[in-house]
Amino acid sequence: MSDCIFCSIAAGKIPSDTVYQDEHLVAFRDLNPQAAVHILIIPRVHLASLDQAGPEHGPVLGQVLLAAGEIARQEGISGGYRVVNNCGKSAGQTVFHLHFHLLGGRDMGWPPG
Ligand code: 5GP
Ligand code: ZN
Repeated sequence: MSDCIFCSIAAGKIPSDTVYQDEHLVAFRDLNPQAAVHILIIPRVHLASLDQAGPEHGPVLGQVLLAAGEIARQEGISGGYRVVNNCGKSAGQTVFHLHFHLLGGRDMGWPPG
């Protein structure tokens, strides 16, 4: 989608601090980090949110979680991190291209706010 900021990042049209990319995914550091490690993992395919995902997206959703574990290892936070998806405005979603936050490097409370 031409007016989607994360599509532009995935296409390399907007610069980002990329930590991982392959044919299906891109992962880059959040502009406004909420933890010592705060990385966004996005599928290259544009889906506004998890609500738009169907069975055909099962493989890429699995790849997101496997990448999260791999990036956590790279970042030295294995054993202490969170993978978060905010789905919809009321859950805090502000960018409507599906993305997963990988957060670590600090203690976290539960339940999240
Ligand atoms: P959401 O609130 O939708 O779950 O998360 C959106 C995240 O994207 C926020 O944490 C915000 O800081 C981050 N973000 C928004 N615009 C940009 C950008 O242009 N570059 C990067 N790296 N992060 C962004
Ligand atoms: Zn997009």
